[in-house]
Amino acid sequence: MSESTRILIHGASGRMGQALLRLCAEQTDCQVVAAVTRKSPAQRVVEGVPFFAASELSSVPAFDVAVDFSLPEGFDPLLALCMARGAALVSGTTGLSDAQRAALEAAAAKIPLVWASNFSLGVAILSELVERAAKALPGWDCDIVEAHHTQKKDAPSGTALTLGEAASANGAKVAYASLRAGDIIGEHTVQFTGLGERLELVHRAGNRDIFARGALHAARRIVGRPAAAYRVRDLLD
Ligand code: NAD
Repeated sequence: MSESTRILIHGASGRMGQALLRLCAEQTDCQVVAAVTRKSPAQRVVEGVPFFAASELSSVPAFDVAVDFSLPEGFDPLLALCMARGAALVSGTTGLSDAQRAALEAAAAKIPLVWASNFSLGVAILSELVERAAKALPGWDCDIVEAHHTQKKDAPSGTALTLGEAASANGAKVAYASLRAGDIIGEHTVQFTGLGERLELVHRAGNRDIFARGALHAARRIVGRPAAAYRVRDLLD
């Protein structure tokens, strides 16, 4: 492993990709060696970072970890590349199919990887609170309401589904509602309703940097670890 973590950013022209590029440029312990976009990039090198089209994925230089915030369509070739190169994978792409989730699970036998529907610290803690509330409040209704910007394609959001899994694993029966409005970055309310009382646990994302920072933190910490599927909370220290 080189001194500074060599990162490939997949989905580099997207909202998250741009946040990742900006944050990486401010840090000295990581270096973006390849930025991958769906279509041919307008410029081959931007501020010292080489850009590649998705069709050129096999020719990217050596990297330690791929950080992927793209769309499900681009996921399979990236996973195959990480396995072929023995590189780690940090993915926040939501809306993956069951087959893609199964392929991720299988890949964890060969490479270290983390997939999370939400890389923010607040949501990692929210998930723990949801587990606790679901266990302590059997028989209460559990509803998850999520709101996102109008460009978001999948619904319910990956984060809502992850929170729902945390609740149902602890006995709750979960219902979902999704709102798509304006430029909302991401809001999740997990509501437990009993007779005459209601508990609301709410997380609001104020900007995308919280996810990008969390993903870069995970990327630095996952390189060099044994092959396995890690959770964000395993990589916090
Ligand atoms: P966006 O639409 O702005 O960007 C998506 C990017 O993916 C674009 O640059 C697009 O060119 C690229 N892309 C699409 N197909 C591709 C392919 N075949 N190969 C390579 N690149 C391809 O979306 P966004 O808001 O940046 O979000 C990206 C993903 O990250 C979404 O799945 C979103 O739900 C998810 N997300 C996850 C978290 C988290 O914390 N896990 C946080 C925010 C967003």
